[in-house]
Amino acid sequence: MIKRTRVQEWSKGVLLMGRFEWFGTGCWLLTHNGVGAILELPPYSPDHQESPATKAYNVCKKRKIDVKYILCTHTHIDHYNAKTAREMQGAFPRAEVHLQRGFEGIAGMLNNVYFFDHDSKLDIGGEPLYLVHAPKHSWTDTNVIFKGTAIMGDWELNTLRSAHDDKPRYAVPKDAKIAAIDKMSRFEHDHKYHIHKVFSVHANDRRENIDFTALMHDTKVDRASF
Ligand SMILES: [Zn+2]
Repeated sequence: MIKRTRVQEWSKGVLLMGRFEWFGTGCWLLTHNGVGAILELPPYSPDHQESPATKAYNVCKKRKIDVKYILCTHTHIDHYNAKTAREMQGAFPRAEVHLQRGFEGIAGMLNNVYFFDHDSKLDIGGEPLYLVHAPKHSWTDTNVIFKGTAIMGDWELNTLRSAHDDKPRYAVPKDAKIAAIDKMSRFEHDHKYHIHKVFSVHANDRRENIDFTALMHDTKVDRASF
């Protein structure tokens, strides 16, 4: 039986449309003034799950949202799936796909795709949406900042450590991680922007009323557990 999930509005204009596969990667809709962006392209099990693209199509049709962008936080297999990406483009053929340069090898076949190296600032119905390249969990880590919320991909918070530190193929060296955390800790100051919520893209970490810059400083501490 195909399981349908209920849309949850985690914050105004930040909607969790569903969590997919056993690892529960979220697929999100970021929206303002009838315009939207889809965040994350996870794999799914067609035998018991609705596809993220079908879900997104139905949610946006019902809410009359014009999807302008398709986005993804990093290249790991639980976040970017080529089949889901193609289906998402099929659902929203006019949407631009904006991805960090490190996606080029796996996403180069998509239409309407734009790669950025460091950061990108997009516009959703007059509201800015920032894509910030900040490698910590993986080399393509892209933090998404919209309406005072930061969706931090798979970033491990309150520790410098990362889940893949012991895997040379995936690990981000300490210096690069520190540079990424420093960049995030300057974000509020540099952009004169207040971030007060932090969500993980898997929707298993939800923090509200936070001091984002202080959280970033604390993330530089080398703690054993996270
Ligand atoms: Zn993940």
